[in-house]
Formats: sequence, structure tokens, C-alpha cells
Amino acid sequence: RSIRVGAVSEQIERSLVLVKPDGYRRGLSGEVLRRIEAKGYTLVALAVTTPTAEQLATHYAEHEGKPFYEPLVEFMSSGPVTAAVIEGHGCIPGFRALAGATDPTAALPGTIRGDLGRDWGLKVQQNIVHGSDSPESAAREIGIWFPELS
Ligand code: UDP
Repeated sequence: RSIRVGAVSEQIERSLVLVKPDGYRRGLSGEVLRRIEAKGYTLVALAVTTPTAEQLATHYAEHEGKPFYEPLVEFMSSGPVTAAVIEGHGCIPGFRALAGATDPTAALPGTIRGDLGRDWGLKVQQNIVHGSDSPESAAREIGIWFPELS
């Protein structure tokens, strides 16, 4: 069953969310999960894990070769992340709306990055959360972080 609202699909779907090392270090995992549940999404899987080089190379394969790739991978391997699979109607675009714009400085108040982000200058990679950007990405990313679910 699928209801089309503008360009946004309202199918029940799953998304892969990461609270990145900056968010984990700042103790924001609970706040991010609270917002996910308050929105009405369900937690399907949850883990705290320090990403391996192999996981990050697969996860960020589309960004390989871009100027921010190396610093991004270095930052993402700097400590634990909280990884979650969430489920709900349109939760892929829905979580990205909760997260806000990539750059915390540009992210609107009311969003995770807008409310909790800091101005890190050039360190745009430190923006608290990751959320899958399409059903194809979500399926691929869930396989990286929770192979038992795919
Ligand atoms: N990123 C960065 N510099 C950039 C663009 C992206 O460091 O100019 C980092 C940032 O951490 C971002 C991640 O790379 O979250 C993935 O980029 P994407 O464009 O997919 O942003 P997102 O989907 O996370 O908003």
C-alpha cells in the first residue's frame, strides 16, 4: 500500500541512522533516539560500535575521491557510533527532515543539526547524525551495520 503525498512516498520503510562520533561523545544518542520515537518511528535494531575501515569504505563509497572523503572517514573511525534501524511511514525522507541540512550552521532550528549542531567551521563532517537517502541506500546500509537483518 502506498499513498503519494507530493513527491514523498508514505510507504512503511526502514532507514539506517547513525549517531556519529561527535554526537556519541557529546551524549546525544538518547536525544536523537527520543526524537525518532517522538516522531512515531519504531526502533528495529540498535547497537554501539566503533566503525571499521571496511564498513566506512562501503558506507561512503559514493563519496570516494571527493575532497572531504579522507577527513570524513578519519572522523567516523575516531570513536563509537550509535547505529539504529528505524521503521515507519516515509521514515527515510522523514528522518532526513528531522536531521536538517548537512551543514549544522545552515540547518534550521527544530532539526537535530539545527538545534544541537555547533559551528565547526570547515569540519562540516561533524554533524551529529547520518540517515539513509533512498530505499536503495537504506537496504545497502542496513546490510553493512546489521548484516543479520538483510
Ligand atoms: N560532508 C563533508 N563535507 C561536505 C559534504 C559532506 O564533510 O562538503 C560529510 C558530512 O558529514 C555529511 C557526509 O559527508 O553528513 C555525507 O554527505 P551527504 O552529502 O550525503 O550529506 P548528508 O546526507 O549526511 O546530509
